Amino acid sequence: MLVSAKDMLQKAKAGKYAVGQFNINNLEWTKAILLTAQELNSPVILGVSEGAGKYMCGYKTIVGMVNGMIDELGITVPVALHLDHGSYEGAKKCIEAGFSSVMFDGSHYPIEENIAKTKELVATCDELGLSLEAEVGSIGGEEDGVVGAGECADPNECKMIADLGITMLAAGIGNIHGKYPENWAGLSFDTLDAIQQLTGDMPLVLHGGTGIPADMIQKAISLGVSKINVNTECQLAFAAATREYVEAGKDLSGKGFDPRKLLAPGFEAIKATVKEKMELFGSVNKA
Ligand SMILES: [Zn+2]
Repeated sequence: MLVSAKDMLQKAKAGKYAVGQFNINNLEWTKAILLTAQELNSPVILGVSEGAGKYMCGYKTIVGMVNGMIDELGITVPVALHLDHGSYEGAKKCIEAGFSSVMFDGSHYPIEENIAKTKELVATCDELGLSLEAEVGSIGGEEDGVVGAGECADPNECKMIADLGITMLAAGIGNIHGKYPENWAGLSFDTLDAIQQLTGDMPLVLHGGTGIPADMIQKAISLGVSKINVNTECQLAFAAATREYVEAGKDLSGKGFDPRKLLAPGFEAIKATVKEKMELFGSVNKA
């Protein structure tokens, strides 16, 4: 059964570790992440972007697939199914379809509008027992062109949004989606520290987890980060393993073209990446 991310993140914040959000793209991704979480006895959050939602034939299809897998694979660790960077409309659709957690990304709105829309969703999520992530200070991305540093959130605005009753807060602290540029300035721990001082027990979320050095991840966790989003890293691992299989000509030998064989190395690569991250984040045996 899917659960809200509230309990797992409050425990993580108190225990000074982080729960990974791993974004899913298809059946192989979902199965690899769920099996690894179960093997490591770790709580887990499955992230779905609106684009991935469309790709997987809509939110209802995803809810059906994830619930089916939890049952068929005998998954007993806490699993939250979470909308990543949702629009206001997208969040409502996911709630209707049976997601257990949503992110409303109102960071591109003026702060007053971000507050008003977040507030409405807090009421809906509270009523249904779902967790809600909000964002302040947009997180940079490679689509924005060359960036040396992601944007840093205003700690006072973070406090205003945190006080609305959300479950977890994503705040820009110099992090970026996708691959980090060579000249990246690193995470702003001063900003993170100022945000945590003002927001207290609120679990903080670090987006763009791919390529942040391990020591920075650990420092971020020590300063209140309790949820870390991983997306690109699983994609890179899957692509590299699939490339190796094809370049070795394995798809041309015997029944190597069978999708169950062709996609197996990528599946194993995702499992290895998720395991590495869960160990780094400290969520192993925290289910
Ligand atoms: Zn993000």
